[in-house]
Amino acid sequence: MKREFHRLSESSFDVLVIGGGIYGAWAAYDAALRGLSVALVEKNDWASATSSCSSKLIHGGLRYLERPDFGLVRKSLAERSLLGRLAPHRVEPLRFVLPLYAGGRVGRWRLKAGLALYDRLAGRRRRVERHRYLSKASMARSYGFLDAHGLRGGFTYGDCVTDDARFTLEIVSGADAAGAVAVNRARVDALLESGGRIHGARVLDEESGESVEVRANVTLNCAGPWASRLVADIRENAVSGVRLTKGVHLVLPALPTDDAFLVLSPLDRRVIFFIPWYGRTLVGTTDTDFSASPDQIRPTPADVTYLLDEAGRVLGDAAWRESDVISGFAGVRTLAGAAGASPSAVSRELRIDEPFERMLMPVGGKFTSARADAASIVDRAVAALGAESPRSVTDTLPFPWLPDEGLRRWEGRQLGRGLGLGLDEPACLACLGRYGRRVEALFDILQQRRELAAPIVQGFPFCLAEVVYAVRHEMARSLEDVLRRRIPVALVCRPEAGDVQRVALLVAAELGWSNERRRAEVASIVAREPREGGVPENA
Ligand SMILES: Cc1cc2nc3c(=O)[nH]c(=O)nc-3n(C[C@H](O)[C@H](O)[C@H](O)COP(=O)(O)OP(=O)(O)OC[C@H]3O[C@@H](n4cnc5c(N)ncnc54)[C@H](O)[C@@H]3O)c2cc1C
Repeated sequence: MKREFHRLSESSFDVLVIGGGIYGAWAAYDAALRGLSVALVEKNDWASATSSCSSKLIHGGLRYLERPDFGLVRKSLAERSLLGRLAPHRVEPLRFVLPLYAGGRVGRWRLKAGLALYDRLAGRRRRVERHRYLSKASMARSYGFLDAHGLRGGFTYGDCVTDDARFTLEIVSGADAAGAVAVNRARVDALLESGGRIHGARVLDEESGESVEVRANVTLNCAGPWASRLVADIRENAVSGVRLTKGVHLVLPALPTDDAFLVLSPLDRRVIFFIPWYGRTLVGTTDTDFSASPDQIRPTPADVTYLLDEAGRVLGDAAWRESDVISGFAGVRTLAGAAGASPSAVSRELRIDEPFERMLMPVGGKFTSARADAASIVDRAVAALGAESPRSVTDTLPFPWLPDEGLRRWEGRQLGRGLGLGLDEPACLACLGRYGRRVEALFDILQQRRELAAPIVQGFPFCLAEVVYAVRHEMARSLEDVLRRRIPVALVCRPEAGDVQRVALLVAAELGWSNERRRAEVASIVAREPREGGVPENA
């Protein structure tokens, strides 16, 4: 992927997509695959907002059965199964454990009924395991770190996990390969409107300061938490019934298990997840109304305390402390719902608004269902264009980076090549999963510069060649793009200032940064609070 801002003004497009989160990515990919001319613009980095701050689950959403929201759960479970087939390198099965405590909010038989329904709604073509009951003794044997006080037993059930930022990037790269003009650091600062109809947008190049008018027949406003603000610039209250809530996760040391946990909070009827991810545990999430600018979102000390307290209820002596927090991240949910009910009670179902003629805007939705939702949005765009266009093919096409041959055979072959180039086995296996077939271009860089097989941070399976690859082939433009989203280094470990500087030198050489720019980039990572994914200043 090459960043070519100038191409945005070279022609007019069938479809302009605003926002490079998962909804914008799928919409652009889907439309480009149907033969439409597409521009996709993102003001910051691909997946820099909500789509890199999710719980990373490709799931039906067990808790939505309580509402009940069977339609949403069935649709999401169908997507879970489809994405597992189309992207086995990207979507992995994960076993969840649901501990049962005396006096718990939901009793054993109600949970059993819910899990049986969850299995049933998933249909026959599931890759994940069915639910199972575990006695108190089995729970104690397998998960001895759980607080035994009041533990009555538990259930296990299956769902899936992913790396949301890389998932989104893979779909953007698919859109790019299908002919879309995809540009990050390209901000829509005004919509082009006349007589209530949208004709495109004025787009600012955040790097050069240049502005261009991008003309399009249909504009898809996939700007997530910013979408309502964008249309309010033209007409106040053009959209109503949008609610923003904040969700925080903490990254904590791993628990001694490969399984995830779903814990029912006795306090506020919420669920808290412990999710194994890159050798760490993600603990989340909060769900609180949010009215500030989405640009300002951060985990606060109160969020950290809430999550550690909730985790501490079931971990007893093994509970994490604040000093254990490696990093954290916060995202904004854009929900189709009015104020009033508790944030967790608002449906995650998608609504497609049309605030102006020739503009469509998704509100609500989930990472898991974004593919199917985007197909519906593009169907509506095609109808607005009055064009004859083939139906969506994203439900049959393997993901862009899935190798052509069987995954296991391909992995075996590439592992041999990676080891021969100086990678150790964990780093090599991690690269195969994250880059898929594109790993060959990464290995080509290693072939030229063997010293880049060295780890970015000792003990973690990320190598320096990935930094160069991220800039050359994945449109990374800043240190944060590289260290948070292309490679989740700053999320899962605390790199020392020297590690960050080494990465900055590589990026600077690729992008021609001045010394001043390089120092500023290093400072932007090093000066941050650890809970925001930064490195302590004294490191
Ligand atoms: C805490 C939390 C946990 C979640 N967990 C899960 C989960 O486990 N599984 C699941 O299925 N779903 C989950 N979700 C929901 C899921 O993450 C969201 O539905 C999804 O990421 C929304 O994607 P999006 O593309 O609509 O928004 P975003 O990812 O926010 O993308 C919008 C993009 O638009 C860009 N943009 C904004 N304004 C402009 C402009 N003027 N010009 C150009 N670009 C602009 C932004 O920079 C941003 O990148 C979770 C959500 C949260 C908050």
